[in-house]
Amino acid sequence: MAERTARQVLLDHGVVSLPVDPFAIAAACDILVEPKPSANDGVSGMLIRLGESFGILYATHIPSEGFQRFSVSHELGHYFLAGHPEQLLASGAHASRANFASGDPYEVEADMFAAALLMPRTPFMMAARAFDDGLDAIVGLSAQCRTSLTAAAVSYVRYSRCAVAIVQSLDGVVEFCAVSDALKTEPIGWLRRGAPLPPSSLTRHFASDHANIDHARTGEGEGRLSDWFSRAQAHSIREEVIGLGRFGRVLTVLHCPAISLSADGYDIDDKDEAEEDVMERWAVRFH
Ligand SMILES: [Zn+2]
Repeated sequence: MAERTARQVLLDHGVVSLPVDPFAIAAACDILVEPKPSANDGVSGMLIRLGESFGILYATHIPSEGFQRFSVSHELGHYFLAGHPEQLLASGAHASRANFASGDPYEVEADMFAAALLMPRTPFMMAARAFDDGLDAIVGLSAQCRTSLTAAAVSYVRYSRCAVAIVQSLDGVVEFCAVSDALKTEPIGWLRRGAPLPPSSLTRHFASDHANIDHARTGEGEGRLSDWFSRAQAHSIREEVIGLGRFGRVLTVLHCPAISLSADGYDIDDKDEAEEDVMERWAVRFH
């Protein structure tokens, strides 16, 4: 539903190219958008109603354009999604928290809306064709959509027909993992939040030097799918890694060419998503 609503908003506003500008969409709806004055209180954005007028405040304590654009898009989700204004604006204002583990269905839905608004499936995957599969595509798409690398990675994994997984880690520990549909065709088990990075992995080695993270360096190596996923076969994988700068995390992209859904590589159909993976849901707004 969130993806369909986002698609309709893009259609209604005549948005036909990337990057999507959530500020322009808000302006066209007479929604006043302003940076939020207060410091880091965990609030990433607010939607406010005064009579028939709407406003959005977005946090600036994280000086990342991707984060701010995502926060504004999230609040637009509360404005556009059916049932949200009634549910969330009874008191006149709703504050969203960048709590990536939020299980609140309204927050999850607004995140899905934001991801689909900034990274609409068809143009996103068409743009992906200009890049090599994996990290190259994620970096290129993040620049083109002006989102964080993490947000681009999550959308990439959702739409890709290749067998890819992304892992975000902090201090050698997994924060979240999302896997593509192709990778779900084999039983591989689950890489859980809180699990240590595989001892033999490039990511583990890479993350041990903080300069790699601070300077947003990249690395590439080979490994086995079974190193990461306990029930997986020992297929060879390509492991790519990038430091996320002041965010302090490491993003890993695992690509397993032995498994694929189709020779085509990408799904650019406009089909509706069936069931979303819960890890993917909460991954999108982190950063
Ligand atoms: Zn919210």
